[in-house]
Amino acid sequence: TEFSDLNLDPKVLQAVAEAGYTTPTPIQAGAIPEALAGRDVLGIAQTGTGKTASFTLPMIQLLSRGRARARMPRSLVLCPTRELAAQVAENFDMYAKYTKLTKALLIGGVSFKDQDTLIDRGVDVLIATPGRLLDHFERGKLLLTGVQIMVVDEADRMLDMGFIPDIERIFQMTPFTRQTLFFSATMAPEIERITNTFLSAPARIEV
Ligand code: AMP
Repeated sequence: TEFSDLNLDPKVLQAVAEAGYTTPTPIQAGAIPEALAGRDVLGIAQTGTGKTASFTLPMIQLLSRGRARARMPRSLVLCPTRELAAQVAENFDMYAKYTKLTKALLIGGVSFKDQDTLIDRGVDVLIATPGRLLDHFERGKLLLTGVQIMVVDEADRMLDMGFIPDIERIFQMTPFTRQTLFFSATMAPEIERITNTFLSAPARIEV
């Protein structure tokens, strides 16, 4: 499989080419067509397999039509740590460079002010850790009822860190009609339960 076989837009393909990638990794070859077709995805993949692009590239393409409204992000990526969220945000910037999509990074340890300003302006993609996301929600600054695509990255680490109740709460704040892309390195029983509850007939891709 080549990137050109994956039904990606020229704008996305150009950014991928500039990143220096020639061939999609197995998780990318498996997940990207399913996500672009609108299916939920359960990706079982370790870090280092290229999983970030496997959800970021289709997300960028799926969001390319439409415009964000104030306080209502169109998509959400949940990450277990600040560092991982910052990495996902960097990847997003690289892959979305030929689009007009906007993002906000919501992580702890920095002031709410700049994050509030971005949310008020309206963002296409919100990349967040669960705690900081819920803080914004509880301050009445954020609505998740416009989320069309929700990504959970490194769910196994979320479990280790005790974030599963937060993840469940956040799932429940988003519309039933959302598309869900869910990634975990392992499938512990608790992770299996969450995916059975919140994913709808997912394409299961294990690498
Ligand atoms: P990830 O598993 O998403 O953390 O990606 C691991 C590393 O692989 C990152 O440095 C990516 O930039 C790189 N990468 C992702 N996809 C590809 C690809 N198709 N070809 C070459 N490198 C890639």
